[in-house]
Amino acid sequence: MRIGHGYDLHRLEPVAPAGRGRPFILGGVRIDHDRGPVGHSDGDVLLHAVTDAILGALGQPDIGQLFPDTDPRWEGGDSAMFLAEAAVRMRAAGYEIGNMDMTVICERPKVGPRKSEIVARIAQILGCPADRLNLKGKTHEKVDAVGEGRAIETHVVALLVKSC
Ligand code: MG
Repeated sequence: MRIGHGYDLHRLEPVAPAGRGRPFILGGVRIDHDRGPVGHSDGDVLLHAVTDAILGALGQPDIGQLFPDTDPRWEGGDSAMFLAEAAVRMRAAGYEIGNMDMTVICERPKVGPRKSEIVARIAQILGCPADRLNLKGKTHEKVDAVGEGRAIETHVVALLVKSC
């Protein structure tokens, strides 16, 4: 088996045209919110960390190396593409998801009510059973950039096991 860790953070700004924020998408699920991530792609901070956790477990180049934020091909792009590529690489190496634990840290919006939807979407992109994935939402107790609603942060740990 192999283990990988993924981390990501994106700034949150008022959604365009009021600011530079993109529509708020988390784990491939659109959530209504007045602020959204600033990013080159769609800014999906959870899919980015999941992608990096899997690539890290495989010992392969990270998301920034595979999909540079200077490449116009990924401008505004659906981050599901990045995760789908990581899943292809995982299968090619002979691994599947053993289990994965994901933590999202932000003050708003609340992740809890959308948890099962987000988990189902990530399982769909990965082609794995949803019961191998766990998602937790936490706040940052109103302190620092995340706590003040100016950023959103994610941590993911992925355990890969050899496919039978
Ligand atoms: Mg990112």
